[in-house]
Amino acid sequence: MKEEHIKYERWRKEMVDRQIVDRGISDPMVIDAMLTVPRHLFVNEALTESAYMDYPLPIGEGQTISQPYIIAEMTQSLQLKKSDRVLEIGTGSGYQAAILAHIVSRVYTIERNNTLFMRTRKLFDTLKYHNIVTRYSDGTIGWKSESPFDAIMVTAGGEQIPQPLIDQLAVGGKLVMPVGGLMAQELLLIEKDKSGTNITNLGGCRFVKLIGQHGWKD
Ligand code: SAH
Repeated sequence: MKEEHIKYERWRKEMVDRQIVDRGISDPMVIDAMLTVPRHLFVNEALTESAYMDYPLPIGEGQTISQPYIIAEMTQSLQLKKSDRVLEIGTGSGYQAAILAHIVSRVYTIERNNTLFMRTRKLFDTLKYHNIVTRYSDGTIGWKSESPFDAIMVTAGGEQIPQPLIDQLAVGGKLVMPVGGLMAQELLLIEKDKSGTNITNLGGCRFVKLIGQHGWKD
């Protein structure tokens, strides 16, 4: 067991050096979270040996966990502070939520697929992620009773940013989401200020579908 632990720690360090730091990610909180969260525990046992590789992996139900670099890039773009409350749409495997939970005080995460929701909620309990609050719902309508959020991360792609999410973002807050068609999207960063929103395009990406009232139809 001890040797296994050391092996995964070494793989994480290699992942962070080659895929994250060498490609320009510099936020120490993001680097520390990616060195700490055991990504291999968020994928199916048959895939543990590939967990730290430079690509996305299937997590069941036709969904995927993003490539480590994309997770790091999206997380860094939000410029998080310890005291932030963050909303994630698309819990999936729970890996992204766990990364966020290492950095901020509280993470709210919504999943629309019941199988993934149940499985990942149990995993958060087992791994003692007590600052992650889960919900089984359509994330495109947000989580009004817990809003406003300092940051929102959408981990599935849609044709536009759901208006409820923009409404539920605090003034001074940031939202990151893949926006575009079914086959390819652009990663957009939205910064909300008193007069409106600023949009920065972080580049091309490919995510699974955001399905819901303000997303793709099922
Ligand atoms: N953040 C996840 C990525 C999972 S893939 C991880 O770290 O593993 C995207 C997830 O978004 C899928 O699990 C999919 O079921 C979910 N999803 C799609 N549309 C959604 C919606 N409207 N609300 C909540 N979850 C949604």
